[in-house]
Amino acid sequence: MSDPIESVLGAALSRGLFGLLIAGDEAAGRALVRACAGALEGAHALGFARDLDGWPAAVRVLALGGEVTLALGLRAALRQDPDWLVAEAPAADLPLDLLVTATQTGHGVLVRAAGCPDERPLVDALGQVEWAASAFPRVVVVDTRGVARIVAADGAPVWRRGEPLPAPELATGHIPYVPPPPPAREPTPPLDPDVLERLRARLAPQARPTFVPVLAPPSDDAARSRLGGRPLLAPGEAWPRCGVCDAPMPLAVQLARAELPADAAIAFPPGAEHLQLFYCTSDACGVTDPASAGARNRLLRFLDRGEPAPAPPASGGVTRLAPQDVVGWERRLETPGSEDADLLDDLVEARWRLADRVAHGEADPDEAPLAGPLAGQKLLGWPLWTQAPGWEACPRCGGRMTFVFQVDADRGPLEMLFAADGTGHVSQCPAHPDVVVFTWACG
Ligand SMILES: [Zn+2]
Ligand SMILES: [Zn+2]
Repeated sequence: MSDPIESVLGAALSRGLFGLLIAGDEAAGRALVRACAGALEGAHALGFARDLDGWPAAVRVLALGGEVTLALGLRAALRQDPDWLVAEAPAADLPLDLLVTATQTGHGVLVRAAGCPDERPLVDALGQVEWAASAFPRVVVVDTRGVARIVAADGAPVWRRGEPLPAPELATGHIPYVPPPPPAREPTPPLDPDVLERLRARLAPQARPTFVPVLAPPSDDAARSRLGGRPLLAPGEAWPRCGVCDAPMPLAVQLARAELPADAAIAFPPGAEHLQLFYCTSDACGVTDPASAGARNRLLRFLDRGEPAPAPPASGGVTRLAPQDVVGWERRLETPGSEDADLLDDLVEARWRLADRVAHGEADPDEAPLAGPLAGQKLLGWPLWTQAPGWEACPRCGGRMTFVFQVDADRGPLEMLFAADGTGHVSQCPAHPDVVVFTWACG
């Protein structure tokens, strides 16, 4: 089965609709252009690229380089009035005004741009160009991790992975986008009282408090607890770099001991003031075991004494995160995952129903903790495993480590930190508080 985004593009192209495709990296771009080759077959399609290999035969490709810039080439090509312009260039080199003009004057435009990790810079740039909104196509983005999205020119999402495919006319902006009304929902019936009691008897003794960060826009105070943003570094320390690819690693999590809730007792080693996780988000990173505790694509450490880091170095992946300060912690109760609690099948099933009721505000507040571990970032409590339970063994003594902090890469400030979805966990050895590891898994 072909990729859904390819189906949308292929259908749109075959109907002669205008499209502007931005692909985050070369491999994704090539796959998409190849997928559209059939639709470009009968068209008068002119392409521009630095590398002439791997293009579909339907596109006549001209080499860029030296005097021949993309803007010059496109101008010359427009004089030939082709049906389609196909171009490959670094995102920063794209003559956006020219491309927009081309779409407005009846030319299809298909671009694959390297170094365009998401649609925001592109949409921002297009916003500065004068164009008739009605004539402008949607922007189709395939980011560096192969995740496809379609956004309108104002950045509003039109289609996301996992949703039903939009019609080609909608995908390309030929009809306005009106979000569908939320489907009517039948409430999930309450659990049988006996089953609820069994669930309670089994799980309530294992309930633990967890602390959900209350987030606010990032401040200048580098000593704060935060997700992403500017960290503290050791005095005189250079920005931490990936042990595999040497790219600067963005801060993912910084927890300040002084700001942790009184009853959230993480054992900080003597003298330590901050716990920090830096993680490599470079698209070029060659790490082979990215999810494992021993991988060298992260720095997880306690910091005794720090000073504010300089501004984060510019790097491909660093800007993908949306930093937030942690300005408080909300205390909640939660119970272990069904595998950690060793629940029988009928109770596992009952729990799914309960979770559904909790998610839709249909459950009593005292039932909510029985639904299981919370998703999202959180401190202590029970881990939510994306796959099987993954309790780590201490690399020093072999003892089972305890769960400290959960990182959610599916949504929120650390979206796509390590995968398009998935959950990561910081664990600590109860006998050796200085020994901490970070592991993750995705679905
Ligand atoms: Zn790396
Ligand atoms: Zn240990």
